[in-house]
Amino acid sequence: MKTVCAALNLTTLASVYADVLAEARQAQWSYEELLTRALAVEVAGRQQRAQERRWRAARLPFAARLEAFDFRFQPSVSERIVRELASLSFIQTATNVVFMGPPGVGKTHLACGLESAALDAGHSVQFVTLRELVAQLDAPTARGGMTVVRRYRQPTLLVIDEIGYTRLRPEHAHALFDLVTARYERHPTILTSNLTFAEWGGLLDDDVLATAMLDRLLHHAEVIPINGRSYRMRQRTLGDTTTGA
Ligand code: ADP
Ligand code: MG
Repeated sequence: MKTVCAALNLTTLASVYADVLAEARQAQWSYEELLTRALAVEVAGRQQRAQERRWRAARLPFAARLEAFDFRFQPSVSERIVRELASLSFIQTATNVVFMGPPGVGKTHLACGLESAALDAGHSVQFVTLRELVAQLDAPTARGGMTVVRRYRQPTLLVIDEIGYTRLRPEHAHALFDLVTARYERHPTILTSNLTFAEWGGLLDDDVLATAMLDRLLHHAEVIPINGRSYRMRQRTLGDTTTGA
């Protein structure tokens, strides 16, 4: 049995067939039922491995779920809009999502939460910070950004995190513009940024390019400004309050 399973690459079945057989004897399954269940075990194992591969390939920085987001702590974020986004209809309409706000308010958490929901639903998903994107553009294999743009225009959902912390040279700005253009009206992109849109000209060091890029990005977009306190600092704030009282 082990040899046959190995020849057919039935890795899950190979590891559990003794249990399956024991259960079949116990429950007196028919031959047909045994065959069906044995193959179903293999199919389930494959689906799980494929799902695990997709999660790894997505490269989320942390496993943040939307269910774990405390909307009471961050009242500037509309729970209704986030729930609506979590239904993933924005993927069908290729609507971009922009989370804007200072550090610690939950931008990356919400972006990861939406990506997790998309992964659960079977979509291809990718997460990258702008700094990583720039590092990949600077790699000798990037071929003028073509490889990078081709890679990131594929996934059904892409997050570009932390726009604003990395200074862009003209070749980076143009590659980012090409990427936005390639995804425009095809696949949605989620962006997080500590900058206002007015500051994007400075980020790209090119006002004309920034205007053209924002024009495409915001044509179909949900912009979510977050202007609350940093969740990372909440203990400190509580501490301060206690000390002050
Ligand atoms: P940002 O990307 O805006 O700097 P993060 O999303 O990285 O902030 O949030 C910082 C940390 O605080 C993360 O661990 C995140 O899970 C957590 N966090 C932020 N806001 C909330 C919230 N409203 N409810 C629960 N956890 C939160
Ligand atoms: Mg962040």
